[in-house]
Amino acid sequence: MAQWYKISCRNCDYTNELILGSSVTAESLKDLNEDSADFKIFECKNDHELFTIDVHSSDFNNKCPVCGTAITEISIEEIGVHACPRCANKTLKIEPLSHL
Ligand SMILES: [Zn+2]
Ligand SMILES: [Zn+2]
Repeated sequence: MAQWYKISCRNCDYTNELILGSSVTAESLKDLNEDSADFKIFECKNDHELFTIDVHSSDFNNKCPVCGTAITEISIEEIGVHACPRCANKTLKIEPLSHL
């Protein structure tokens, strides 16, 4: 199941809400025609913004949707040691949101 997460910085006021995971459910697995989504975290090499992309989408091409720069995948575990896009300190934290 996909889940919303909130990324925030302990050093500045940066916050970002991201959806992560797969939309595949027991129900949709029975429907072979239905494309499943799989959202992963990426960082833009240009502006260091964090966002999630559905890697199963036909639009997915390993490029930033905003500026077209190459992007790198970041796991949830790496968020804690990842530099904040705003203040560049390694003070990010990620927590699940329950408003789905
Ligand atoms: Zn970009
Ligand atoms: Zn920060």
